Amino acid sequence: MPVETDADPVTPIAGLPAPDQRPLLVAQHVSRHFEGVHAVEDVSLDVLPGRITGLIGPNGAGKSTFLAVLAGTLPASSGSIIFDGHDVTALPAFRRARRGLVRTFQLPSEFAQLTVLENLLAAAPDNRGDTLRGALLGKRYWKGDEDRLVEQARILLDRFRMSAKESDYASSLSGGQKRLLEIMRALMLQPRLLLLDEPMSGVHPSIIGDIADYCEALRDEGLTILMVEHELHMIERMANPVVVMAQGSVIGQGTMAALRQQREIVDAYLVG
Ligand code: ADP
Ligand code: MG
Repeated sequence: MPVETDADPVTPIAGLPAPDQRPLLVAQHVSRHFEGVHAVEDVSLDVLPGRITGLIGPNGAGKSTFLAVLAGTLPASSGSIIFDGHDVTALPAFRRARRGLVRTFQLPSEFAQLTVLENLLAAAPDNRGDTLRGALLGKRYWKGDEDRLVEQARILLDRFRMSAKESDYASSLSGGQKRLLEIMRALMLQPRLLLLDEPMSGVHPSIIGDIADYCEALRDEGLTILMVEHELHMIERMANPVVVMAQGSVIGQGTMAALRQQREIVDAYLVG
């Protein structure tokens, strides 16, 4: 019998993926209806860890609604969402975020008048200085937290080459810088699965490749990403697998190259 000195210590069970390939998120028969509109209809999907999964499809396909249902900002009409082995279907968004399931949000308009650094601090959870109790207990109580969060924010700013913008108002940022701030705000929550809805939209073409570089670097450090994006050449570069939605349903998944070979998918979306 051959002796494998560097064999995987855990024996895989036939038919099951190896433990490190167990899906981080499993959506089971998820639907979301709006008064008769079947925005998402019976979508089942596994998100594998350590990858960028692409989610593409025409406008109105249900991609944003599906991400919102996964994040818990919209309740599902039916179906279940398992994150890291736990059924989170009934949990509100902030409790899913605490478990590491986090989506980006477009910068709310009132945050335009905060600086970049303040935006990052406001995104962080458990900032006790923001609570009534923290305010009553005084600065000594939460100063340690604040210092830690400022440090965490500055590490992100450095990484995204935004340190020089720290004290600028968010309203003064370019489209691309706003997208980066949205991603940094989500990263302040230390996600394990980051849900990105069109992180390259409204971004100058010269910056699109930078955003892809940042996403790939995060992926290479172990962050799992599910990304809706219309920039198909970037999806092709970054994402595997790619999932195609149309009219609320998943109509195919695989590598972008494989999807391009499927006539019905090309007809539904990949024309041109
Ligand atoms: P995508 O992100 O793929 O463009 P959406 O998830 O935004 O698609 O929308 C899917 C469908 O659900 C569309 O028909 C849209 O009009 C509808 N829809 C989305 N949000 C709402 C809502 N809050 N109320 C009613 N209909 C909605
Ligand atoms: Mg959308």
